[in-house]
Amino acid sequence: MRLDLRTIIHRPGAELPFEHTLDLSQVDLFEACPFAHPVHIHGMVRNRAGALELKAVVDTTLELVCDRCLKPFRQEMELPVEHLLAETLEQEEDDDILLLEDGQLDLDEVFTTDVILAMEPKHVCSEDCKGLCPKCGADLNEGPCRCKADVDPRLAVLAQLLDKESDD
Ligand SMILES: [Zn+2]
Ligand SMILES: [Zn+2]
Repeated sequence: MRLDLRTIIHRPGAELPFEHTLDLSQVDLFEACPFAHPVHIHGMVRNRAGALELKAVVDTTLELVCDRCLKPFRQEMELPVEHLLAETLEQEEDDDILLLEDGQLDLDEVFTTDVILAMEPKHVCSEDCKGLCPKCGADLNEGPCRCKADVDPRLAVLAQLLDKESDD
């Protein structure tokens, strides 16, 4: 959807609220489709002394897979977004300003970029997630596995230290 800002571009103090829903269900990220639910956007563009300022909040429910225990889980996403908009760039190196085309802003393009760049590369179902045993693959959240008993971390450290000494 294109948001037409021509009615407020030359009117300092003018405001234009907007709502939009993105369908990102086809977006493949981290070998999964995290955007199974609609992505809602509520925002407002304000003309502040001739400069256009966009403020919005993006919210959706993400379908993620835990990096530690590999279980799927859901997480709410609420992302505040701010941009400055302009019809022309005065300084070419200013990447933070979004350019309008014919006084319009492509909401799909802007918010798809914002949402994807805001995604964390790692996800855990809970900060306390114990993950899977690297040896047998058991889910350690459901209790200790059998191989845990035979690896004593103190003995492993001792063995390493003693090994080093005998090398010298
Ligand atoms: Zn987990
Ligand atoms: Zn194990």
